Amino acid sequence: MTFTITTPLYYVNDRPHLGSTYTTLAADTLARFQRLLGKQVNFITGVDEHGQKIERTANQNKISPLEHCDYISATYIDLWKEWNISHDKFVRTTSSSHKQFVKKFFERVVSSGDIYMGNQQGWYCVGCEEFKDVSKDNNDPICDIHKKPLEWRDEENLFFRLSKYQEQIELLINSKDFIQPKARQNEVSNFVLSGLKDFSISRVNISWGIEVPGHKGHTFYVWFDALLGYISALYDTSNLDSISELNIDGWPASIHIIGKDILRFHAVYWPAMLLSAGLPLPKKVFGHGFLTREGQKMGKSLGNILDPKVLIDQYNAEAVRWYLLRDFQFGQDGDFQHKRFVDLVNNDLANTIGNLLNRTSTMARKWFNNSVPDVNRESIVNHQFSAEVKEYVSKYLSSMEELRFDKSCQYILSLATSANVYLNENAPWKKIKEPDSISIVAVDLYVVLESVRIVGYLLAPLLPKLSQSIKSQLAINDLDSNFVESLRWGILVPGTILPIPEPIIEKIDVQK
Ligand SMILES: [Zn+2]
Repeated sequence: MTFTITTPLYYVNDRPHLGSTYTTLAADTLARFQRLLGKQVNFITGVDEHGQKIERTANQNKISPLEHCDYISATYIDLWKEWNISHDKFVRTTSSSHKQFVKKFFERVVSSGDIYMGNQQGWYCVGCEEFKDVSKDNNDPICDIHKKPLEWRDEENLFFRLSKYQEQIELLINSKDFIQPKARQNEVSNFVLSGLKDFSISRVNISWGIEVPGHKGHTFYVWFDALLGYISALYDTSNLDSISELNIDGWPASIHIIGKDILRFHAVYWPAMLLSAGLPLPKKVFGHGFLTREGQKMGKSLGNILDPKVLIDQYNAEAVRWYLLRDFQFGQDGDFQHKRFVDLVNNDLANTIGNLLNRTSTMARKWFNNSVPDVNRESIVNHQFSAEVKEYVSKYLSSMEELRFDKSCQYILSLATSANVYLNENAPWKKIKEPDSISIVAVDLYVVLESVRIVGYLLAPLLPKLSQSIKSQLAINDLDSNFVESLRWGILVPGTILPIPEPIIEKIDVQK
């Protein structure tokens, strides 16, 4: 039961931005969820460190390319720590084990007869590290993405026989579930049906890269290098002999989570390379959308970039995680709106969940010896509220499997809202004043506390720290508990001493 999940290896030309943080956060949530289901998870992330752009940036800053890579990689590692990302492996493509793996992989592709020397002519964008489909007659073409002049290249490159895999790739991309969300399948399909062309996998005169064995002066094209990080992360270089078999524990990946702009590389080029090397194909490629800010594309020129480091320094990490996971349908584009962020965090987390726990716990402590009320087991197991909870839990589980984190958050909220309604309708603060009402009040409070306990568990993969605070407030020590079992109704132990309630999350003060 292994589950291997990857984020892209981020290009270290610059510090991490919100887009890569969003991808990593979603992958983290899924990784945590799969671990809770008992799977052996390999959560792989890392950085792509080669290429001309890195070399030039380093030169401009008067440092060596490796110094530049060390610096940027460290900012990623630090940021993931602050965002509470639970990755198991952090790949750096400058590591010696990665380089060894790339060479080994290349040998296998060569022996499949899929590599040949050819001439590559065309307009090249260093930013994209890509030849552009622009006519030779065009005198000063610029890159649509980078708005910078393209450079004319005319060089001998090694080519990979992508065209040979036309039929296999067609079958693959049309297979159910391989490309997610479904809507992105068409775009890739059109590209493949237009006919796959061989692509060059080496560059000359770029020293900052992995040297191609047997071809002096050639280094690997960054994509032929970086994609292999998904496997080099899993592969044990201490046992070099065994790699002729390339039986790699944890491969194939269960899912590659990426931004929609690099879908083609993952759904077409990468599978063809794997077929050539005789390795199993990943099971799923999920291309998510992009984030804008207050309706505008984020960019340096607009000066409206949301820095994930600043965001996390300014607000509670759990607050930001909640907003990104709850408000945006993963897969679609999303718009970061500050007011909405504040409203959702305050309403959902502080009020709907936090206050519910706080006031119920306060009443239980006051009337039941600082503890979870002692209730008759029967009255809880068959309680009318349990059916509703069961339904939310089951819907939550299936939406987590579908990566619909927004829906999962909604089911958690629906459960908390229903518990609020239940509490207000039953008004134990009135009932307690009536004679012989103590056993009825006990059940009411137990039902609400038990609902909050389940909310606490459901939050575990999404907001791990908040989940932990809820459990602590209910005096639950769950180191060895089974996640799905913990979602069963009626587990909260009567008589458990409740600590003095504290807010589980601070409200965001807009004035500050
Ligand atoms: Zn470009």
